Amino acid sequence: MENVFLNLLKRLKAPKCRAFNRFFDYMGAIFNRQLRMKVILMKVLLMIAVVNDMLFTEQLKDRSVFVDGFIKFSNVRKRYKMGEIYVYALAGVDFVINKGEFVVVAGPSGAGKSTVLNILGGMDTCDDGEITVDGSRVDKYNREKLIEYRRYDIGFVFQFYNLMQNLTAVENVELAAQICKNALDPKSVMIDVGLEHRLNNFPSQLSGGEQQRVSIARALAKNPKLLLCDEPTGALDSNTGKEILRLLQSACRQKGMTVIVITHNTALQPMADRIIRINSGKVSDMYINKDVVPIERIEW
Ligand code: ADP
Repeated sequence: MENVFLNLLKRLKAPKCRAFNRFFDYMGAIFNRQLRMKVILMKVLLMIAVVNDMLFTEQLKDRSVFVDGFIKFSNVRKRYKMGEIYVYALAGVDFVINKGEFVVVAGPSGAGKSTVLNILGGMDTCDDGEITVDGSRVDKYNREKLIEYRRYDIGFVFQFYNLMQNLTAVENVELAAQICKNALDPKSVMIDVGLEHRLNNFPSQLSGGEQQRVSIARALAKNPKLLLCDEPTGALDSNTGKEILRLLQSACRQKGMTVIVITHNTALQPMADRIIRINSGKVSDMYINKDVVPIERIEW
């Protein structure tokens, strides 16, 4: 087979086939040029791939472009009927939050912040839109699923603490821990929030800051996926408020918990990883804060 091919080439290269020879030389030159072009093209493509890979790695480091979609609100709407009229609390809210972020949801009174938090926490439902938390569609949950979700996945911290007045501080935490599967030890959590000396005091015997610590301990003892805080410093002076924020931030940084704080106080924004601004039932702005300011430097 090889011999046949060589003979054919020899015959083609014979003087009587000069036209053919020129044709083959010409084709060979074109082929060589094309081959060189292809090699250059491949090198360029390889360089683009390497640069792209480097850029993508940078993007992963830069949390502003990396989105894991741990929490996602898509066109979420909510209206309330007040007599004959409807109040549109949320008019199409969209945002994403990554796992382990410290998020501040800010906006004026009546903007829709509490409605967002209540819907995210399964205490209220939306009329329209999609809500995803850790891969599950919360907007599709029925009543039983919502109870389970609130019980196991959500820790709530309220402005006015909402403690059981006839239970001691540690009993308040134990009560929450009892209804959860992977609850933490109530006493250890009370020690973590700096209340080891207040275990057996009733809420009425505690200061506002201490009561808020108990309510944070109660939320943390559930070992939830999300810690949702509705104006947690609203009833506290600024120094006590800072201590509470430090506690919430350490839950985020040390335990990797996703913490969402709603506030009308814009001064708190610099301490957050992500800021979501809400106005008239819509997200007016959302951005990543690359220069998180330590709580000590925040003034309000
Ligand atoms: P924010 O927390 O930003 O102060 P809210 O989410 O509490 O705002 O309220 C948004 C809007 O929805 C307001 O106009 C409020 O009056 C209305 N709203 C909230 N909850 C209810 C409700 N249960 N019934 C009727 N209107 C409500």
